[in-house]
Amino acid sequence: MVTREGCAIVTGGSRGIGAATARALAADGWPVAIVYRADADAAQATCDAIAAAGGRAWPIQADVSDATAADAIFEAAEAELGPALVLVNNAGVRADGLAPQLSDDDWATVIDTNLTAAFRLTRRALKPMLRARFGRIVNVASIVGLQANPGQSNYAAAKAGLVGMTKTVAAEVARRNITVNAVAPGFIATDMTEGLLEAMAERIPVRRAGTPEEVAACIRFLVSDEASYVTGATLVVDGGLTA
Ligand code: NAP
Repeated sequence: MVTREGCAIVTGGSRGIGAATARALAADGWPVAIVYRADADAAQATCDAIAAAGGRAWPIQADVSDATAADAIFEAAEAELGPALVLVNNAGVRADGLAPQLSDDDWATVIDTNLTAAFRLTRRALKPMLRARFGRIVNVASIVGLQANPGQSNYAAAKAGLVGMTKTVAAEVARRNITVNAVAPGFIATDMTEGLLEAMAERIPVRRAGTPEEVAACIRFLVSDEASYVTGATLVVDGGLTA
């Protein structure tokens, strides 16, 4: 396994796509800080699985929607694992409802967690990355940021915002050897989509939901040295759903 000089931070790394991403980056030699909000057992289980496979991981409890979380997360990760050179903004929530019924709270929670937190973490991440003249940021968006999905105007706004932010920050830091990309998953089998997948399967050209590992493989590529000329891109991972 390659030994890395810095570490990777994966928000929402305790479960689902984030946990698969943490395992994939650890397999590429990155010590990984796993940020979770509430499920300490799941975060510890992901850390244990990474350690059992010969990697290194450290759990950090934080609510990314808290305005002070970014500094706290980076200080904790860097004290334990060294400078953060990879950031995966994966933590996300949904609070669905048709626009006429969507409350201010449901709007704010989804925007704060899925978009504003990603901006604050990106801003903080660029400090060590600019110093190191190397960095990889991957934002986990969604096909809902690219195509209508009635009942998710808050989630769509957040995910489309992530795609726009990805492009502009990518252009700002490209000459410093820092890449900023997004992935846009379709329907992936995780806790977030529990109960929704069976109805969806026949609309998906490959006739099944994706796995967290299939999204993690794309994030792993975007973080890798091989992806050094890919920046500002959004990689759709949806089994052909939006093709
Ligand atoms: P998930 O299984 O529900 O896991 C969500 C993760 O985010 C958990 O680790 C959770 O931590 C963490 N989290 C949520 N709110 C947080 C907060 N305020 N602060 C810190 N951590 C927080 O979700 P998933 O399906 O893997 O989704 C991961 C990402 O992919 C999300 O951004 C989602 O929008 C996106 N996505 C998912 C799909 C899909 O089909 N599943 C499709 C497109 C995009 P705790 O467990 O501690 O609460």
